[in-house]
Amino acid sequence: MTHDVHIIGGGLAGSEAAWQLARRGYRVRLSEMRGGGGATPAHQTDGLAELVCSNSFRSDDDEKNAVGLLHHEMRRLDSLVMRAGEVARVPAGSAMAVDRDVFSNAVQSALEQDPNVTIVRETVDALPEAGLAIVATGPLTAASLAQDVARATGADSLAFFDAIAPIVHRDSIDMTVCWMQSRWNKGDGKDYINCPMDKEQYLAFVQGLLDGEKGAFKEWEENTPYFDGCMPIEVMAERGVETLRFGPMKPVGLDDPRTGRWPYAVVQLRQDNKLGTLWNMVGFQTKLKHAEQVRLFRTIPGLEKAEFARLGGLHRNTFINSPLLLDRQLRLKSAPHIRFAGQITGCEGYVESAAVGLMTGLMAAAELAGCAWTPPPRTSAMGALLAHITGDAEAESYQPMNVNFGLFPPLPDVKKKQRKEAYTQRAKADFGAWLAASAPISSCDTAQALP
Ligand SMILES: Cc1cc2nc3c(=O)[nH]c(=O)nc-3n(C[C@H](O)[C@H](O)[C@H](O)COP(=O)(O)OP(=O)(O)OC[C@H]3O[C@@H](n4cnc5c(N)ncnc54)[C@H](O)[C@@H]3O)c2cc1C
Repeated sequence: MTHDVHIIGGGLAGSEAAWQLARRGYRVRLSEMRGGGGATPAHQTDGLAELVCSNSFRSDDDEKNAVGLLHHEMRRLDSLVMRAGEVARVPAGSAMAVDRDVFSNAVQSALEQDPNVTIVRETVDALPEAGLAIVATGPLTAASLAQDVARATGADSLAFFDAIAPIVHRDSIDMTVCWMQSRWNKGDGKDYINCPMDKEQYLAFVQGLLDGEKGAFKEWEENTPYFDGCMPIEVMAERGVETLRFGPMKPVGLDDPRTGRWPYAVVQLRQDNKLGTLWNMVGFQTKLKHAEQVRLFRTIPGLEKAEFARLGGLHRNTFINSPLLLDRQLRLKSAPHIRFAGQITGCEGYVESAAVGLMTGLMAAAELAGCAWTPPPRTSAMGALLAHITGDAEAESYQPMNVNFGLFPPLPDVKKKQRKEAYTQRAKADFGAWLAASAPISSCDTAQALP
C-alpha cells in the first residue's frame, strides 16, 4: 500500500485531516471527485476546500464566542484551514472572512507541496474494505457513496435533508410560565417543557407563520424528496388553522399547573443534549427567515426572552446518525477502520467541519503510532463538539449542530453576564493543559517545518 490513510473528500474536513497526518509523517491518499469527472450542485471550482456559500468563518472573538474559541484551539494545533484563512483574510470587523479563491489555493498548494500527500481526482463509490480511511465527503456526498454508507449503516441512519427545529438555551426559558410534563405523564412524566397558549395567542401565532418571510429551496434541493416528518411548520399551518393543534402543538394530556386544565395549544421542548442545557422545539423545523423566527418564537408564552443556540432550517444535507453509529473516536462501530469527518458527521459549518477533520487526523495519527488518544477536554470547544457528535446528543432527534456554549458543561454559579468569558477562560486553561500533556500531539509528533 502506498499510503497509510485514505481520505475521501478534499473539502474543509478532508484537507485538514490530510495536513495533520502528513505533518506527522504519515502518507495520505486524498481522493477528490471534483477535477476527476465528479461534481456537486454547489461547488463551482475544482479547488480543494472550496467555500460553497458565504466567505465567513464567523466570529474570531475567542473571549466571548464559541466559534472564536474554536478558531483559537485550531490555531494552537496548527490548523491548515486557519493558516490559509489568515493568508486569505479580508476585513470583516470582529469576524474572520476570507477571499475564497485565495483561501482554496492556499490549502491546495500546501497539500500539493507536501510529499506525504497524494491528491487523486477520483470519485470513490464504496467505503474501503480495509486500511485506515476517513470519509469526509460532506453534505453533498456523491450518490454512489451515499448509497454504500446507507448499506453499511442502515438506511434510517443516513439523512439527505436536515430538518432543524430551533434549539433554545434552557436558562432562557421562563419556568414561571412553562412547566415540565410528558403527555399523559408517560416516561418519567417530566420529559418535556410545555409552553401554553390560549386561543387568541394560538390564532395570532398561526397567522404569524403564514405571513412570515420564508427562504426558498435552491433549485437542486427541490428534486430531493423529504419525509412528511420533516414538513416545515409553516407548511402545516397552510393546511388549515387547526392542523398544528392536531399536530406538534397538540395540548391533550398536558395539564397546565396554573389552571389544572389542558391549554388551547402547546409548544413542547425536548431535551437535546445530555447536559440538559439545550432544548429543541418539537416539530418546529421551518424555512422562515432567521430574524422572523426570533421575532415570532419570542411571542410564545415562556419564550419571550429565549436565546437560540440555533434557529430552524431545512436544507439538502447528507449526514449520518453519529451518536448512534460512531464511537468516541469517530470510528464506525461496525467497521472501525473507517472514520467520518466534517459535516457528514452532523456538525454544521465550515469551521466545525474543519475542526472535526483536524481531530480525525490526530486520531488516525495516534492509532498509526500506537498511542492512546486522549480527546480534548469537554470544557473546550473541540472537546464539547466531539462529545456532542459521538454520544452526548440525543440520537433520536439528531440534527446538525454548530459549536455553541450550550454544548459546554454548565457554569451555574457564574452570573449570566459573565458566563461567556468564564466558558472561554476555563476552556483555554483546560485545553492548554491537555496540549501540554497530550502524547499523540507531542511525543508522537514528528512535525516537519511548515511551508
Ligand atoms: C449549499 C450549502 C451552503 C453552505 N453554506 C455554508 C456557509 O455559508 N457557512 C458555513 O459555515 N457552512 C455552510 N455550509 C455547511 C458546511 O459547513 C459546508 O458544506 C462545508 O464545506 C462542509 O465541509 P466538509 O469538508 O464536511 O464538506 P465539503 O467541503 O463539501 O467537502 C466534501 C468534498 O468531498 C467531495 N466528494 C463528495 N463525494 C465524494 C466521493 N464519493 N468521492 C470523492 N470525493 C467526494 C466533494 O466534491 C467535496 O469537495 C453550506 C452547505 C451547503 C450544502
